[in-house]
Amino acid sequence: MSIIVQKFGGTSIADAEKIHRAARRAIKTKLDGHQVVMTVSAMGKTTDKLVALANQVNPNPPKREIDMLLTTGEQVSISLMAMAIAAAGHEAISFTGGQIGMVTDSAHTKARIQSVDADRIHRHLDEGKIVIVAGFQGITEEGAITTLGRGGSDTTAVALAAVLKADACEVYTDVDGVYTTDPRIVPQARKMHEITYDEMLELASLGAGVMHSRSMEFGKKYNVPIHVRSSLTDSKGTMIVPETTGMEEIVVRGVTLKRDMAVVVLIGVPNKPGIASQIFARIAKHNIIVDDIIQNVYEHGHEANIGFSTSQSDVKEAGTICEEMAKDIGFKQVEVDENVAKVSIVGIGMKSHTGVAAKMFTALAKEKINIQNIATSEIVISCIIDQKDGERALQALHATFELDKNAD
Ligand code: ASP
Ligand code: MG
Repeated sequence: MSIIVQKFGGTSIADAEKIHRAARRAIKTKLDGHQVVMTVSAMGKTTDKLVALANQVNPNPPKREIDMLLTTGEQVSISLMAMAIAAAGHEAISFTGGQIGMVTDSAHTKARIQSVDADRIHRHLDEGKIVIVAGFQGITEEGAITTLGRGGSDTTAVALAAVLKADACEVYTDVDGVYTTDPRIVPQARKMHEITYDEMLELASLGAGVMHSRSMEFGKKYNVPIHVRSSLTDSKGTMIVPETTGMEEIVVRGVTLKRDMAVVVLIGVPNKPGIASQIFARIAKHNIIVDDIIQNVYEHGHEANIGFSTSQSDVKEAGTICEEMAKDIGFKQVEVDENVAKVSIVGIGMKSHTGVAAKMFTALAKEKINIQNIATSEIVISCIIDQKDGERALQALHATFELDKNAD
């Protein structure tokens, strides 16, 4: 029998009426002859409120306890969803991440899934129940409750779809698909019919508010067909797939703006073998995600400045660690700039086209936007710019690459 995993985001289950609507959708899918697994997020803005509450109690809360707190949001949702399905006369059963063996590593607040026990879910599906699994959470081998990082319910859903060998993973949200950019900033943004896992992975990690980037790793590895669509309508959304038609011709698929960025610059670092490895090993030990790194050597090669970008949520800790290292390793100064943003262009077609970077830089130059740092990979070009220029940069790039026109 075919299995469909349906994930509902916080806005799609924000109140009792919306919970009933999501329940009806799952029931309809079951009546159409599928086995149904639901993954739900916390209702509405619950997670944000819990984070704020934690910070009121302790501005630097222990990460283990953040996870303990935040996972309650999803536990509320799963139980209410099971009640809604029961109220409609159908059988459902809810599970926390721990209960279905969603085993993760112990990196609290950004844990990675290591294994999932599909047997328990299959058993209940075979008994005719709709199985509801709390998104965003897992458990370590030692039994500590973890979370997968903000937005992590998508990853729960895609991982479940992968281990259950589901026929589809449907991601229900308050928008009707994936857009070429944020329509609130660029009204000309277009909904895409399809996008590849690789492109979605990059767009998600570069700030597109849709899909948790890690969910794409599972999607790609296990070839899970993912459908991002609106919870309010029946219209088709965006399919995330291994390959799209004409993917080589579409040079730039989407543009993103990541606002919550910060740059840390270490000044006067001894330019000797092994120093960079010491610095970044220390940072990695604290699970701080480093984005781009740039190094300039000066003083006839004796000294270097090493800058790296990271998220604003990690920058306080990163700054403190670097201050400590300044003494141990012997560099002169640590500078932190929290007023930066990153604009990026993403597209698989870039691999086979030239002049894309030049076109991007020209568009920014025309807007008199200064580029502080540039990073490129096979399918992405990113520029660090002043935060105040972010929206203008996004609009300029969307227009330059004619994303309002390309029909895919
Ligand atoms: N509730 C969590 C969050 O707000 C997880 C999710 O919604 O995916 O980040
Ligand atoms: Mg989300």
